[in-house]
Amino acid sequence: MNPWIAKAVVLAGTVVMMAIRAPHGRRSRNVKVAKSHKTPLETGILVLAWVGFFVPLIWVASPAFWFAEYPLRTVPLLAGVICLVMGLWLFYRSHADLGTNWSLSLEVREGHRLITHGVYREVRHPMYSALALYSVGQALVIPNWVAGLSNLVAFAVLFALRVGAEERMMAQQFGNEYAAYTARTKRLLPRVW
Ligand code: SAH
Repeated sequence: MNPWIAKAVVLAGTVVMMAIRAPHGRRSRNVKVAKSHKTPLETGILVLAWVGFFVPLIWVASPAFWFAEYPLRTVPLLAGVICLVMGLWLFYRSHADLGTNWSLSLEVREGHRLITHGVYREVRHPMYSALALYSVGQALVIPNWVAGLSNLVAFAVLFALRVGAEERMMAQQFGNEYAAYTARTKRLLPRVW
């Protein structure tokens, strides 16, 4: 199968993802940060996330990763498209529910509220679940070992290094309210983990 189909899917997914995030980025910038928990490690995590995000676009636009190419097959392509669509839907819903409480990094904003409704009712990190689905989708759609796995590796590192610090920050900010929320929810997958 022609890899241009995969390239078109990756490009469309990236455009949709940026279109979902852009208005939230603009809106949250207008709400002051009350307390930043941004450490040098957090900066490193963000740099890695950007690299993971851009490598698939380099693959779309150039033959840079030619040595890691393999043939594109229908079943992984279709499974990947399903993961990408589900991931983008969840990315949209989690942004809608989190509103101006969203930050790219670990920050508490002025008037920050603990969100426990919508997609936050069952899991504490639906946006990370969305990114996991999106990264798995890209790994299935992109027939290239480097570009296909870049977002997945970056996400796995981001999640492993950030989730503990994020939950500690939320516990410090919201105390018993967050403890109760933690007790009745899972991290990424409803009812499982
Ligand atoms: N981990 C969440 C949010 C990612 S955005 C998810 O995957 O859906 C990261 C920022 O969201 C953090 O800096 C924190 O300030 C904020 N945040 C995380 N969970 C929140 C919640 N339940 N309510 C309000 N803000 C939250």
